Amino acid sequence: MFSPHLAGHRALRQRLLDRLRDGRIRGSLLFTGPEGIGKRRVALELAQREICLRRTACGECEGCRMLQGEDLPFELPNLLRIAPEGKAGVIRIDQIREGLDSSNQPRFSRGVIEWASLAPPLGCHRWIIIEEAHRLNESSGNILLKTLEEPPEGTHFILVTHRPEALLQTIRSRCERIPFAPLPPEEAWAVARRQGWDEADRPRWEALGDGSLRFLDEAIFRRAEAQVDAWIALLGGRPFTEAGDALLPERESPLAQGEQLRQPLELLLRVLADLARIRAGEAPSLEPWRGALEALAARSGDLKAPQEAALDALRHLPRNLSPEPLLREVALALPRA
Ligand SMILES: [Zn+2]
Repeated sequence: MFSPHLAGHRALRQRLLDRLRDGRIRGSLLFTGPEGIGKRRVALELAQREICLRRTACGECEGCRMLQGEDLPFELPNLLRIAPEGKAGVIRIDQIREGLDSSNQPRFSRGVIEWASLAPPLGCHRWIIIEEAHRLNESSGNILLKTLEEPPEGTHFILVTHRPEALLQTIRSRCERIPFAPLPPEEAWAVARRQGWDEADRPRWEALGDGSLRFLDEAIFRRAEAQVDAWIALLGGRPFTEAGDALLPERESPLAQGEQLRQPLELLLRVLADLARIRAGEAPSLEPWRGALEALAARSGDLKAPQEAALDALRHLPRNLSPEPLLREVALALPRA
């Protein structure tokens, strides 16, 4: 989600600005780090500063307003934004080559490579932001390679991803990697509070978000909360038919089924890691669930098998079309009372 008020990553943002001012910045950058910590926001800020009437990304002027709100533009005079499309959620070759959207309507005035070669507007660079860059498929990635290697003068590519390992090696090697750290909890919560979150939710929101803003949307947060509860119930011996509902994909979600399964599986890995932590005498990362986790950790049971089952399921997600059996299989690997 786009948050115009994100205050984090101060040192990193300053370093980027200094390098840009001194002309010491590479043409192609790769922003990496956990999901929902503001990587895209920082990338957009570079373009926003140039169209800001005060040149500060003030967030209030006419220029800044173009980059606020839910519906971000795909093209501005100094910015081209490319994001995955459709249920499959990939960045397709015709998005790159022709600038078309999934219904073959022009989304940009021209293809990405042609756009990159135009002279930037006076006092601006040309920014091409590729969101969720791990969703470039092989052919769309390949036609970008040459331009990424040496973008035209004044043009910068910023590839944003929380899964750099899923990018083509040839793409990674052409970009300078800029790693982002999670936000300090109080900075993340300050953003949530401005969006109306209640103090009572803070412990669980902070624990689940883990320095990210991925749960700013309340429905997504409630779902994650229910999924942790579901895994705890399953680990406690409840059958999948009774406790597994919150883990299954929702029909009306805009996300592909495989994508929807990623969250519960990642949450299971966190729960298992916490059980191991408690057994080693350390504090769990999901602190608000400590009581239930401690009760589970006190029981005997191997954690390796369910961990491997979850990792294995995650590896097969992109191609798996039947989520329920997949989840049940993972649930079966859980230690039983
Ligand atoms: Zn402004």
